Amino acid sequence: MEKGIIVKGIGGFYYIKRGQNIYECKARGKFRNKKITPLVGDYVFFTFNNITNQGVIEDIIDRNVELIRPPVANVDQAIIVFALKNPSPNLRLLDKILIMSEYKNLSLKICINKIDLAKDESLNEIIEIYRKTGYEIIPCSTKKDIGIDRIKEILKNKISVFAGPSGVGKSSILNKVQSGLKLKTGEISSKIKRGKHTTRHCELMELDFGGWVVDSPGFTSLNIDYIDSEELCNLFPEFRQYVEECKFNNCLHTNEPICGVKDALGKGYISKDRYNNYIEILTQIQKKKNRRY
Ligand code: GDP
Ligand code: ZN
Repeated sequence: MEKGIIVKGIGGFYYIKRGQNIYECKARGKFRNKKITPLVGDYVFFTFNNITNQGVIEDIIDRNVELIRPPVANVDQAIIVFALKNPSPNLRLLDKILIMSEYKNLSLKICINKIDLAKDESLNEIIEIYRKTGYEIIPCSTKKDIGIDRIKEILKNKISVFAGPSGVGKSSILNKVQSGLKLKTGEISSKIKRGKHTTRHCELMELDFGGWVVDSPGFTSLNIDYIDSEELCNLFPEFRQYVEECKFNNCLHTNEPICGVKDALGKGYISKDRYNNYIEILTQIQKKKNRRY
């Protein structure tokens, strides 16, 4: 048996990269009974018949991570891309994507692109809001070639997913990172996205300096309502160290007396914008829950 990585899956066929070659394979029937479907990013064992030019996936190596949107396994990190302008940053959405990625235990970096379009002050404002989260922030401009080298360093030898709204410059960044990567433009993919069979399609693209990126369409909204309200605050890394000082174990850091998080907020250790988004998202989750019962 050979070992490889699934780089693409379309209509029941999987494309497995091993060395410099790509092998077209089908999945063994046993996966259907076990209710696991091979995913792009899966490391697999496969056999290949050189006469029929067809292979079979025999086994899937256990996944570290499994994402549903985009459907991909073994992702090491998420690079969350936002623009400083055009479109102007939606920090609520950014926080939702961060929460989602924390929930999936992904390592996270924030890339603020198009810094050529606005004054340094607006960049510094955002950096100030996120400084205490501990996430690395990479200011970028594909027009002025800023930040691209750092992105390359980050991507090297990892499987990375780029997330963020469309139009922020994800494809442009990747095209800068590696020319000839041939990322689909927003115009084409929005048409394809509506197609029935391609909705869950995604692909791994190999970087010539080592590593993979997931080619997935951008999105403008995100549903995170299934996260437990008690769990939400754990997904804000800068809150975690203050939770211990809350009087109640199940403190939601809203109106409870003696709350470490609200204390930290008052002292400026936690940013107001992040806290306000926390409250907004918490309220949204609670409303959804009430409707369910
Ligand atoms: P995606 O939808 O996130 O993949 O965004 P694209 O890469 O398609 O970029 C959307 C638009 O933003 C394009 O017109 C790009 O030329 C433009 N763009 C990308 N990066 C920058 C940048 O750093 N500065 C400026 N001014 N425009 C950019
Ligand atoms: Zn509290």
